[in-house]
Amino acid sequence: MKIAGTVAEVREQVKQWRKEGLTVGLVPTMGFLHEGHKSLIDRAVKENDRVVVSVFVNPTQFGPNEDFESYPRDMDKDSALCEAAGASLIFHPEPSEMYLDGYSTFVDMSTLTGGLCGKTRPIHFRGVCTVVSKLFNIVTPDRAYFGQKDAQQLAVIRHMVRDLNFGIEIVGCPIIREEDGLAKSSRNTYLNAEERAAATILSKALKEGKAALESGERDAAKVKQIVTDKINSEKLSKIDYVEIVDWNNLEPVEKVMDDVLCAVAVYIGKTRLIDNFIFSINS
Ligand code: AMP
Repeated sequence: MKIAGTVAEVREQVKQWRKEGLTVGLVPTMGFLHEGHKSLIDRAVKENDRVVVSVFVNPTQFGPNEDFESYPRDMDKDSALCEAAGASLIFHPEPSEMYLDGYSTFVDMSTLTGGLCGKTRPIHFRGVCTVVSKLFNIVTPDRAYFGQKDAQQLAVIRHMVRDLNFGIEIVGCPIIREEDGLAKSSRNTYLNAEERAAATILSKALKEGKAALESGERDAAKVKQIVTDKINSEKLSKIDYVEIVDWNNLEPVEKVMDDVLCAVAVYIGKTRLIDNFIFSINS
């Protein structure tokens, strides 16, 4: 497995693979890899001849008061995980390689990005769409893999690929959880022991919301209330949002008539965690 720091190296390697008629999968990440990321890499390895994992903490998707500087990084551990999972190449550029002096072009989506995480993180999806577009142009993969953990991001990327004719298949992958239900996240390392125990409230609350939908509740406000009450029962939690939106366009719904995304963002102490489930009306 190779580690490339420059765009030119990646292009050269992919050109070689293309000459050999090989397919290429891409797994974009910010590193500090865990089982959630590994599940994406595993799937990509199964479905493609070669897999590129990008490890890049993308400055343009962090707001001024967010955790860009303190975001955890461990390239040695990440390389070992990628190698063991069967990836062929890690793309690990410096910010200066991705954003040249005078960089001024951004991909800004006018729908899907205003609600949910976009409310508290107004520039986040502009940064995500920009960096993912750049990665798509650099790697030119056949398929790219994204976790449902970041459900809004998955919907936004699918929409962007459709709007901008990227011609890349976007594969959504299920949320990988700790044994007690907490969705795996690089940011879980910010939690102290007491907060770590409190953080299970997200998945517990979503479970109750899901159970209500499964037993026939169709009033979104009632389901949101069940989830909200449960989260508020944990004293270390502070809700950013609890939303039920149409899974196709991320617009809030009053009655659940179609597939919906039930998503939450909750501060546990200073750490903002997200989690969600998708409820399929026909299953
Ligand atoms: P990140 O490094 O947090 O930007 O995540 C990189 C990719 O891994 C994104 O597509 C995430 O949705 C995905 N991912 C992160 N955590 C999980 C998880 N617990 N289960 C499944 N996918 C995940």
